Formats: sequence, structure tokens, C-alpha cells
Amino acid sequence: MVRVIPTEETERPRTVDEHRAEVIRLLGTRPAVELPLADCASLVLADDVRAGVSLPPFDNSAMDGYAVRSVDVVEASGEVPVELPVAEDIPAGRTDIPALLPGSAHRIMTGAPMPPGADSVVMVEHTDGGTDKVRVFRAAAPGAHIRRTGEDVAAGTIALGAGTVLGPAQLGLASAVGLDRLAVHAPPRVLVVSTGTELVLPPQELRHGQIYESNSVMLVAALRGMGCHVESVRSVADDVPAFRAAIEPKLPETDLVVTSGGVSAGAYEVVKDALTGAGVRFAKVAMQPGGPQGCGTWDGVPVVTLPGNPVSVLVSFEAFLRPAVLAALGHTHLDRRHVRAQLTETLASPRGKRQFRRGYYTSSEGQVTGVVGPRGGPGSHLLAAFTQANCLIVLPEDVTEAAAGSEVDVLLI
Ligand code: AMP
Ligand code: MG
Repeated sequence: MVRVIPTEETERPRTVDEHRAEVIRLLGTRPAVELPLADCASLVLADDVRAGVSLPPFDNSAMDGYAVRSVDVVEASGEVPVELPVAEDIPAGRTDIPALLPGSAHRIMTGAPMPPGADSVVMVEHTDGGTDKVRVFRAAAPGAHIRRTGEDVAAGTIALGAGTVLGPAQLGLASAVGLDRLAVHAPPRVLVVSTGTELVLPPQELRHGQIYESNSVMLVAALRGMGCHVESVRSVADDVPAFRAAIEPKLPETDLVVTSGGVSAGAYEVVKDALTGAGVRFAKVAMQPGGPQGCGTWDGVPVVTLPGNPVSVLVSFEAFLRPAVLAALGHTHLDRRHVRAQLTETLASPRGKRQFRRGYYTSSEGQVTGVVGPRGGPGSHLLAAFTQANCLIVLPEDVTEAAAGSEVDVLLI
């Protein structure tokens, strides 16, 4: 079989940053959609949220105790307590709040509205806890233990700004100001496709020459972890009609297709054969692992084509897909946290390529830089070593050797 080498392969390789920028551009930013709060966790707010109510919505007690007029207990002490009649009981949730008359107290619980006329709360611990009459052992300053209307959020102000990442506190605040839905950047529906005639799904039995499929498992986990809705086609043979038939019917319900395998320079490169000239551009990226990459659109749907080796898949996810999906979801911070660390052993890296090695980073208390050692060799099939890694060691394009003891850049994954 004769293959025409596409012109891309004779071009200068793309840099990691160029390909990353192209994948980010391809995915764009997802439109806003309103979702129930429970479905918004870790998504990004698409619009400002204005508070419809103040927080707290009314002056209320910060303590279990007694609402009083501070002038009535100004003389109170352990030796000479002040005794006041308890006129009312105000548990949290009571909505009809009688005013406090001079010379009396209302028993009040945390979160209950302050009665008109009271300017202070005496903690129950500073009283005898009486229900008909109460003996107060300490003076209370005016305003003591009162949570004021709007001291957390004032009604009408922006409680959460567009672009906010919705974690537990942000979702709690949205509910506290009275919302049950939020406008977020819609999570994309992603179709993950593994190609390779050799792929078999566990628990089927392997024949010699076959392997168990693992790329889709990793990509599904990684993408679901980011909030995407993910479906997978776990094993498509290296056959263009079969590939098209498996994917094309699903395109209308898909926002992003991610394939693995079938994009390098051999024969039977099903993804390349099916999509070259159909809107997807294939390129060599100057990186190791993960050189053969592609991206574009298929019937208008963004497609990112990753190489087949499992380590290449995960490194490509980190380098390209993760930042692009974050940007699509409305995040502005797209990078993993990275630190400098001292190498425990000498590493070689190919000239002209950015190398991503699996590593284990440790930082010790009080030390500015931590220490990092490789886990496994550079081979892109060494998945077991990846499971022992907590970082990627990044060796830049112009580095061919990083000596033991030298400082390297480490991405914490
Ligand atoms: P390819 O780029 O299709 O030539 O694949 C490169 C290598 O990755 C081959 O050894 C494949 O068997 C392996 N590979 C491809 N896809 C998968 C997959 N989904 N799960 C595990 N290994 C794979
Ligand atoms: Mg293949």
C-alpha cells in the first residue's frame, strides 16, 4: 500500500504552545445555560449574580441568650447580678417579633430576629438561663452579639461575578441570596473514540496480538472530572468506513470529538485517513511523548485527535485538552500549578522537543525548592510508571540533558 505523505509532515513541527493555542481556539467558549445549583458544582458562572436579599436579611442574634437593653444590665456582675423578667421566647424562625419593653428580657436563640427596642444580646453562659426570670452576671456592650442586616451582602449588589468558579462556598452563597439556578458555561458533550483493530474490551479474552483498551477509560475519567458529559466508543477497527459509521451518527449530539490512535506516520492510520481533507489538520508537534497531533472540525463539530500510546494520551490531555476544555468552560486560569525542583538523577531529552517526563515531586518543610525524581523511562507505553507519578517534569526544547542536582520545571498534576 502506498501512502502519500501529507504536506504537514514535511513542514516545520509545530511548537507545543502553537498547538495548544490552536486547540483552545478550536473549542472556543461554551454558551451560557441555566442549571440547577446541584449541577453547577465546579462550573463557571456566565453572568453576574445580584443579591435579591441582604445577608443577613434582618438584624439577628449571634448567640443563644437574652435580648436586652444594654442600659438595663450595665451594673450586672457575678457578685451583684441584675434580674429581669423574661417576657418572650424567640426561637430561630419566629416571624412575629414583639418589641422589648424597658426593664425586661426576651430569651433569644442564634439566628432569631432582634426584637425592636433591644440593642444587645447577653450570652446564655453569662446568665442563670432562667425562663420566667433571668439573672444576668455581666454587662453587655451596646450592639454586642448582633449580626447586622447586610453586613455580609447588601441587597442589589453583585454577590458573585461572571467568571467565578462555583465551589461549595459560591453555591452556598447563591442559595443564601435566594437562587435555585445559575447561568453557567454549558459543559460540553464529549465523544471519546478509541481506534485500533488490536483493541479488546475487558473482560473478553485476549488473543495473541491483541491488547486491552485503556485510553478511553483515562479520557472519560479526566473529562468527567472536569464536568464534561462524556460518552465513549471504546474500540473502532482501523477501517475508514467502520470509523465513519461509528462516529457520524453521533455528531449532531456532540460538542467535541476526542480520538486516540491512528494519527502517526505508519499505514492503517484510520483517523488520519478518514479526516485528512475533511476539516482536520494533522501536524507533528515538537514534544515527547505525543508528537503526532491533529485538530479541526468534522461536520462543524470540533475534533481533537490524540496519538495512541496511553502515556501520550495523558500527556496530550495535560498539554492541550485540559487547558482548552477549561477555557471552553469559562475558566481563565488554564495552567497546572508549576514549581521548580531539584532533579535526583540526570535525564536526557531529544533536541528540539519539549519532553514531559513522569515524576514524583516532594517538598520539604522550609525548603524553597522541592526534589523531583523520574518515574519510569521516556517510553510512551509505560503506563504503570505514570500511576506512581504526581507531576510532569518539563524539559524545554533547547535542553538535551538535565544533570542530577539541576533545577527543572515541574507541573503538579
Ligand atoms: P497508534 O497511534 O494507533 O499506532 O497506536 C500507538 C500505540 O498505542 C499502539 O501500540 C497501540 O496498540 C496503542 N494504543 C492505541 N490505542 C490504544 C487504546 N485505546 N488503549 C491502549 N493502547 C492503545
Ligand atoms: Mg492504531
